[in-house]
Formats: sequence, structure tokens, C-alpha cells
Amino acid sequence: MNDASICPSCGGTLEDRSIQIDFRYKGRLIVVEGIPAQVCKDCGEQLVSASTSKDIDALLESGARPSRQITVPVLPFRHSAQA
Ligand SMILES: [Zn+2]
Repeated sequence: MNDASICPSCGGTLEDRSIQIDFRYKGRLIVVEGIPAQVCKDCGEQLVSASTSKDIDALLESGARPSRQITVPVLPFRHSAQA
């Protein structure tokens, strides 16, 4: 039990959530979803435990087949128009 979890950034309350994080791995953008994390209700800080991070690294290195593919929008940078 670690229910007395306090956000290190703002001192708010952390709750257990399932999140998704995108990674760059070998030049590819990969999204890992269903990651167990603690998320601050106040500032949105996302905390992933060291063992979970290790599991994510192992998952990326394993070359596991993706469960699905998503399309990511790509925007070319442009300077904002100025009058
Ligand atoms: Zn916080």
C-alpha cells in the first residue's frame, strides 16, 4: 500500500491511472499505452516507477508487434504572420 502519495511538484494528490507515453526508439515514434502510473490530480504530473520504466525499455527492445497503428499528424514549422 502506498496510498499516501504526494506529488513532488506541487504537493497535490496522486492517483493511480493508466497512461500512454510516446517514445523515440531507433528513429521511430512508438506509443506505449496502458502504462501504470501515478498522475497528480492538480498539476497533471505523471510518475512512472523505476520498475515500470525498466519494463517499458524491455518492451521496446523486445521488438514486440504493435497491437495497432495510429496516424500521427506532422506539421511543417512556419513563422507566425506578422503585420
Ligand atoms: Zn502536482
